[in-house]
Amino acid sequence: MFKKILVANRGEIALRIQRACSEMGIKAVMVYSEADRDAKYVKLAQEAVCIGPAPSALSYLNMPAIISAAEVTDAEAIHPGYGFLSENANFAERVEQSGFQFIGPTPDNIRTMGDKVSAKQAMIKAGVPCVPGSEGELSDDAATNKRIARAIGYPVIIKAAGGGGGRGMRVVHTEAALVNAIQMTKAEAGAAFSNPAVYMEKFLQNPRHIEIQILADKHKNAVYLGERDCSMQRRHQKVIEESPAPGIPRKLIEKIGERCAAACKKIGYRGAGTFEFLYENGEFYFIEMNTRVQVEHPVTEFTTGIDIVKTQIMVAAGEKLPFTQRQIEMRGHAIEVRINAEDAWKFTPSPGRITMWHPPGGPGVRVDSHAYTNYFVPPNYDSMIGKIIVYGDTREQAMARMRTALNETVIEGIQTNIPLHRELMVDAKFMSGGTNIHYLEEWLAAHK
Ligand code: ADP
Repeated sequence: MFKKILVANRGEIALRIQRACSEMGIKAVMVYSEADRDAKYVKLAQEAVCIGPAPSALSYLNMPAIISAAEVTDAEAIHPGYGFLSENANFAERVEQSGFQFIGPTPDNIRTMGDKVSAKQAMIKAGVPCVPGSEGELSDDAATNKRIARAIGYPVIIKAAGGGGGRGMRVVHTEAALVNAIQMTKAEAGAAFSNPAVYMEKFLQNPRHIEIQILADKHKNAVYLGERDCSMQRRHQKVIEESPAPGIPRKLIEKIGERCAAACKKIGYRGAGTFEFLYENGEFYFIEMNTRVQVEHPVTEFTTGIDIVKTQIMVAAGEKLPFTQRQIEMRGHAIEVRINAEDAWKFTPSPGRITMWHPPGGPGVRVDSHAYTNYFVPPNYDSMIGKIIVYGDTREQAMARMRTALNETVIEGIQTNIPLHRELMVDAKFMSGGTNIHYLEEWLAAHK
């Protein structure tokens, strides 16, 4: 096992990885920007290295600074967390070329999955069902593109091959709007992702977002850890996640889960990963794969009892998965809410000093956050400052626990989206389960 790991991230996930290392008897080197000097995990760290000023481009995306930090501290491996460099194949390559273990898949696998066009092609080959679409990058030929759209059937969605974070997508309802939409999405994709390639998919009208968590080792073992329902979204960004997905027959989950595990074996995948699907009328359609740990991983940790971050570290060190598919049992129900430093109704960011931080507790309640009383939320990064995750024997119990947890939570000095979560947890439709990816936005529009 590794003796020392460098954590190349910030915020709650940096603390989460530090906690896993501490439990495993591994020293964790924390890196931080000038804006994150006072972060909890920096204060707790045995070793911490400042890697640059506040802007991400100069710190958390600064590959030479991160690799030098690993060199000077004698770390053996680098955990990239999520976001930042976690899905950057060039970074993974440079890490390995510099003699460190990248805690994640091979650069090749990251590259294939990072481009949504090649990811879909790999999945079609591996027998994973995909959203019907152009099966490749769109050319500039208007006639061909119109033909493809007609074959798929309107509405269609134009998506950036290199897109992420819910950006680089445009829905097209009529042929008249098609050519212009392709051009605009291409221009945006080129500017935002340095990759102008776009592709076309059928726009599913009322799907749910269901994803499968997988874990794989370097010895061709791969398992799936059930599903998460992440349909509660705003602007294609997840707000609430839960597992299991209400109302989906277990047989269907098992079938798609097995497909995902088999695909991992086929492509030689290692580490943690997530297959994201849209689910409509009893069918799953693959949209993309995330080749890293996800924000919502604790939901699955609650229902399976498996520590995903510790397992990532174990398999990166070359160990075999310590469980087989048959030993994985899903039990109970877990729900996560993302706590964002933002106005609950207008969604404007609300960075600043937290004057009072009182997280909830009690049975089945987990809080993953690097915040504390007097912590200053820097304006430079994502607004997510933590997550509340609850577990219950049933979905009803989990919901009741979440309501209690949200009532106990006190965060003063900044605004948060806790008031939004409190209302959603008593919403009749959400409480009955199975709402689709448009539900939250429709609900917000109706509650204005
Ligand atoms: P990103 O990488 O930016 O997260 P995804 O491909 O995962 O992009 O899509 C994000 C969200 O966008 C999905 O969860 C879904 O809400 C919506 N979406 C993407 N593709 C489609 C589609 N073909 N039909 C309907 N909605 C879609």
